Amino acid sequence: MSNLKFCQGTKCHTYHTQDRLKGQQGNKTYQTRRRSTFYYGGNNFCSFNCQNDWFNDFGDRAIDHFGRLNEAKHLTEHNAWVKDYDWRGGSDDRTHLYYYLNKITTERRTITEEQYNDSNYTLNTP
Ligand SMILES: [Zn+2]
Repeated sequence: MSNLKFCQGTKCHTYHTQDRLKGQQGNKTYQTRRRSTFYYGGNNFCSFNCQNDWFNDFGDRAIDHFGRLNEAKHLTEHNAWVKDYDWRGGSDDRTHLYYYLNKITTERRTITEEQYNDSNYTLNTP
């Protein structure tokens, strides 16, 4: 079984490149690109063009589906915490010093590596 997947670009097959031209001799067609990995749009598109084509066709509906932003978000001291770390490159101690930094107040709070790696752990409140 192959792990190849298709580019999700709605017009991918319309771009004339040699690698898209496939099929039996005398019966070749330009086809949607198929790869194991793509570098655009979260591994879904073969090119920025294809990502844009998809967004132009479906972006509005996708935003409406997942929730359109109708008012400005505000960065306050309550949601300005970002995770970061200091590299401690000593020969004996190759651990990082993990911390939360508040981008508004510049307060710094040390956290554990587990807290740093836990995507559900946050100091931010809605
Ligand atoms: Zn494509």
